[in-house]
Amino acid sequence: MTKQRFTLNFPPESSEKPLTYHLIKDYNLKINILKAEITAGKEGHLLIEVEGDEADLENGLKFLMDENIEVIPLNQQITLKEDECVHCGACTAVCFPGALKLDRETWKLIFKPEECVVCGLCVNACPLGIINIGFGTGVRGE
Ligand code: SF4
Ligand code: SF4
Repeated sequence: MTKQRFTLNFPPESSEKPLTYHLIKDYNLKINILKAEITAGKEGHLLIEVEGDEADLENGLKFLMDENIEVIPLNQQITLKEDECVHCGACTAVCFPGALKLDRETWKLIFKPEECVVCGLCVNACPLGIINIGFGTGVRGE
């Protein structure tokens, strides 16, 4: 048995499909939904914990990817070159868990790694390209 966490990014056409139901029923996986942001007809995001046999997990993840779902394992992390940030706030607009926020008094960017679900949406949102996603050792501010 294995237990792992993943962020799932859904395209609009998949946001109404009962995908977690299929993971449970067809792949014998236990699913714990830790965070969810799903709106019919729009992009959706789920943070899930999945428990099951390794082969079932592999097949379940393949099923999701075949459904055009982006699957990001939570052993990846975000790195941010804070010294190059111009505090424009563009990344905060896509950060649904609120890990990236502008401080209302200083208007400086605040990054709370403990809130980050590694959805990767901020990577493309930053006009300066100073946010990256990857495997690492825990260094989040560079
Ligand atoms: S990857 Fe970026 S947008 Fe997604 S939760 Fe983490 S900080 Fe927010
Ligand atoms: S989008 Fe980039 S430059 Fe703008 S606040 Fe976020 S990290 Fe800083």
